Amino acid sequence: MIKTLDVTYEEYLTWDELSPEDLNLVKEARRARESAYAKYSQFKVGAAILLDNGKILTGNNQENAAYPSGLCAERTAIFYAIANYPLAIIRKMAVVAGKEEDNSEPVSPCGACRQVLLEYESRQKKPIEFLFTGMKGRVIKFSKCSDLLPFTFDGSLL
Ligand SMILES: [Zn+2]
Repeated sequence: MIKTLDVTYEEYLTWDELSPEDLNLVKEARRARESAYAKYSQFKVGAAILLDNGKILTGNNQENAAYPSGLCAERTAIFYAIANYPLAIIRKMAVVAGKEEDNSEPVSPCGACRQVLLEYESRQKKPIEFLFTGMKGRVIKFSKCSDLLPFTFDGSLL
């Protein structure tokens, strides 16, 4: 038997189409991108998280000469947020990425970051909205992170 998965997401052709709240979060992610430590790839990524207490926390990619020791912007931001506000609910995350200032292609999160996002979405039992974009232009928005990683491995299996 063959089965098919349907995934629903929103696409915006320009940042101007975003809600004020989403646009603000995207701009915070772009600002965070500027201070990324991307010495080896030059591929800078910024992430911004909006908590239910209204706080916005940011992170960016942190590279290392020992490549696997570095960390993506998404995980830098989410670990920072939860380390400081362990009881807060994450409402949404925005990610802005690109090597070039004129990159307009959305850059989706890696598998490891999807796994981490799912851990916290599962823990808080409330969806985390997730937006990703390049330096301008198109934005992809998911209403929940579980749509980013079907057949998730989670704690219920342990
Ligand atoms: Zn990642």
